Order: sequence, then structure tokens, then C-alpha cells
Amino acid sequence: MKDGDCLFCKIIAEEIPADVIFDRGGVIAFRDVNPQAPLHALVVPKDHVRDAAAVDASHGSLLVELIGAANEIAEADGVDASGYRLVLNVGADAGQTVFHLHLHVIGGRPMAWPPG
Ligand code: 5GP
Ligand code: ZN
Repeated sequence: MKDGDCLFCKIIAEEIPADVIFDRGGVIAFRDVNPQAPLHALVVPKDHVRDAAAVDASHGSLLVELIGAANEIAEADGVDASGYRLVLNVGADAGQTVFHLHLHVIGGRPMAWPPG
């Protein structure tokens, strides 16, 4: 299901260009337009899901696909050994700006914890 006002639905529909690096099954991944590290990709379900708070038991296999894609991207970009961070921002305090579920895959440099 597509949301006509959603930026990432438009990327999935190829109405807006993106640097797509993974496309298999129910998920697609593309590089973030404003990367925060040498690797910064976003893995998204092709069907519109608002955010992680909207995930329920019906999304079980989708979550496996999302994380599996993230792991493959990390390996393809050569950060699987050095490490990487997987992030789901939910809501205002977390800084969520796009309301289509997306898993950030960030790597290629050391990162601090906790995040700012
Ligand atoms: P959020 O803050 O919602 O977790 O993350 C949204 C991410 O989407 C941000 O890292 C932002 O840079 C990225 N983004 C926003 N607009 C676009 C776009 O048009 N293309 C791509 N590739 N990334 C985008
Ligand atoms: Zn969407």
C-alpha cells in the first residue's frame, strides 16, 4: 500500500531518484541524502508502515528482511568487521522526520554512546 504524500513511498515508486543499493522481497535500501558516516543507508519496507510504533505481529518476516538487508549492506560496504549501528527513530524526541519506517545503517567510523 502506497501513501501518496510520503517521501519514501515516492522513492519506492521511482517518482523521486535515490541511490538504491538493495532491492529484494519486501524491502528496498538507498543511501541517505545527508550521510552521517561513510556508510549511511536507509532500509525501508516497500509497503507504507508509519514507524516502529506501528509494527505488530504481522510484520515479523518484514523485520527479518529489514535486518537481513542491513547486515548484507554492512558486509558489502566492508564494515561488518569494524561494526555498525542500526537505528529506528520513533517520534519527536528521537528526531524522526520521515514517517515511513526506515532502519538507518550507519558505519565506517567509530561512534559515541549514548547518542546526543
Ligand atoms: P529520521 O530522522 O526520520 O530517522 O531519518 C530520515 C532520514 O532521511 C534522514 O537521515 C535524512 O537525511 C533522510 N532523507 C530525507 N529526505 C531524503 C531524500 O529525499 N532522499 C534520501 N536518500 N534520504 C533522505
Ligand atoms: Zn510511505
